[in-house]
Amino acid sequence: MDAKEFIFTSSDSALKHVSISVSTNVIEHESYEAKVYDATDGDTLRVRLLPLGLIERVRLLGIDTPETGTDDHARNQCKELDVDMSTLHSLAKIATIHLQWLCPKGAGIILKTTGRVRDDKNRILAGIVVGDVCVNQIMVEHGYAMEYEGDWESYGDLALHAREGGRGIWGQCDEAYYLASSETYHRPGCSKARYATRRFTAVRDAKAVGLEPCSACIPDFKRP
Ligand SMILES: [Zn+2]
Repeated sequence: MDAKEFIFTSSDSALKHVSISVSTNVIEHESYEAKVYDATDGDTLRVRLLPLGLIERVRLLGIDTPETGTDDHARNQCKELDVDMSTLHSLAKIATIHLQWLCPKGAGIILKTTGRVRDDKNRILAGIVVGDVCVNQIMVEHGYAMEYEGDWESYGDLALHAREGGRGIWGQCDEAYYLASSETYHRPGCSKARYATRRFTAVRDAKAVGLEPCSACIPDFKRP
């Protein structure tokens, strides 16, 4: 091999694909700055720990959102939410998009660990704070997550309130507003809402002007 292949300069195209990541030793009862990479479901984010951390998966403490699988846990969720499996999977998609709305790609967040740092899937267990708001709590308050007892604040009362009020996954998954491009309307957390130019406060207003619901974020979801 030619020796010059080992010498990089700033104009080398190979350098464009080089990124430096370092493993961070995450410990108990500590706070970490991170940037959101994406939401993989309603209670799990992928984040990059700052400044140069690896992409890590983070399981939000104290909450549980609808699953996309069909295991025992998913079957129990169907009972709790009083829905069939197909509806549960729609709710899983909608809860994920709600988390994406609260934690958009690139957003700066703080992770707060407690007494147990990682679960058996090597996900970091944490509270997520954006500004002065705890995202875990907001997911329950908005009705997009059930409570999950563990080493974190208890959200039992908030979950009951959301359930009684028919908010989020306990009802029709209404959002505070919807965004629309020329032909399609979306939930505000939908990645396809990026090029939206209009905003509606209710689905019926978007429908009234002839817009179609996005198939990815199902803004017109109705419980069967
Ligand atoms: Zn959409």
